[in-house]
Amino acid sequence: MGQTQTSNPYAWIGDDLAAIHRAGWYRSPRAVCATRGPEVIMDGRTVLQFASNDYLGLSRDPRLAEAATAAIAEFGTGATGSRLTSGDRDLHHRLEGALARWKGTEDCLLFGSGYLANLGVIPTLVGQRDLVLSDQYNHASLRSGVELSGATHRYYAHGDMEALESLLDRERAEYRRCLLVSDSVFSMDGDLAPLGRLVALAEHYSGMVLIDEAHCTGVLGGSGAGALEHWGITVPVIQMGTLSKALGSVGGYVCGGAELIDYLRNRSRTWIYTTGNTPADAAAALRAVEIVPTEPERRARLWQRIEQLRRGLAALEVTVLPHDAGIFCLAVGDIETTARLSQGLFERGIFAPAIRPPTVPTSRIRLSLMATHTPEMIDQLLAGIAESLSALMD
Ligand SMILES: *Cc1c(COP(=O)(O)O)cnc(C)c1O
Repeated sequence: MGQTQTSNPYAWIGDDLAAIHRAGWYRSPRAVCATRGPEVIMDGRTVLQFASNDYLGLSRDPRLAEAATAAIAEFGTGATGSRLTSGDRDLHHRLEGALARWKGTEDCLLFGSGYLANLGVIPTLVGQRDLVLSDQYNHASLRSGVELSGATHRYYAHGDMEALESLLDRERAEYRRCLLVSDSVFSMDGDLAPLGRLVALAEHYSGMVLIDEAHCTGVLGGSGAGALEHWGITVPVIQMGTLSKALGSVGGYVCGGAELIDYLRNRSRTWIYTTGNTPADAAAALRAVEIVPTEPERRARLWQRIEQLRRGLAALEVTVLPHDAGIFCLAVGDIETTARLSQGLFERGIFAPAIRPPTVPTSRIRLSLMATHTPEMIDQLLAGIAESLSALMD
């Protein structure tokens, strides 16, 4: 035995937490105690929810609940094993088939979440001899997927296709494979990536493309299939997304060519070594995938609310970051001002969180709209913003 260790080996955690507090970066979840569509009960009061990804209100649709309940009755609550052992259900295959048809790809593979899909697909496509080029504002799960892959990772400035082209021009030839990765609508900003240009560059430089459609599925495109449908892009790219936003369930997926999906089933660690999606989640998502293309009025209602908020915010002279879908970000100043505005809104019955570093480079109030918000709720939001902003000035 050497010297006796007397110090607490976990003491550094408290020190680190204190540093997080000092920087104003401390975060903690706030529980919702009940939901009635966009109205939720938090901290004992009823507030209007402007932070949900439930863009079409499907998470409270009785048809999804019914499908989930029926699946539990038939298959039970858990999948009981990984898909390659005991956990495969025909429900999974029906959902994968429906997603592939909707997205216009040959096949599809489900994952436990969108995060796990990105951790699973990227290291399967690239490794140490390869290059990944990413938009600097890509979702954290894409970043983690690239880190796990061991590939060389370069970021280009947000949406800057000239910067992407010069990176490709300078570096592409030195690597075996190349993968271009982008959100379609950026989750913490709300704007769309220039996907047409990106796909053309990928073709020119022989790069693979992975597009994260998390915030576009159900929201953009004629049938709600996402940004690729919106732009009319038909060249085959790898599309991933989540079942947990507009589709009202939980889980992730990757859609692409038959060989790619077959390869993922044989190589992707976050698919092979984990339990299959629960029957209830898969059944609810399958019902949502049937509903979304056939009820365009839901999307139309969401877009009416987006227009209403866009016009109202323009009249308020508040700085709104560029946006192309249901996410609006208000830039109102530093961490403290942004937090005070969020608090002011809460006191006026509106839940709109402050998003701050390190999640994003600059603090902002992030609002997301749902088809189930009424025009009166948007008016209430606008009035709340106007009042809270003027209270901040005093
Ligand atoms: C939400 C999100 C994910 C993760 O999806 P989950 O199913 O919630 O894990 C991935 N990418 C983007 C862009 C997202 O917004």
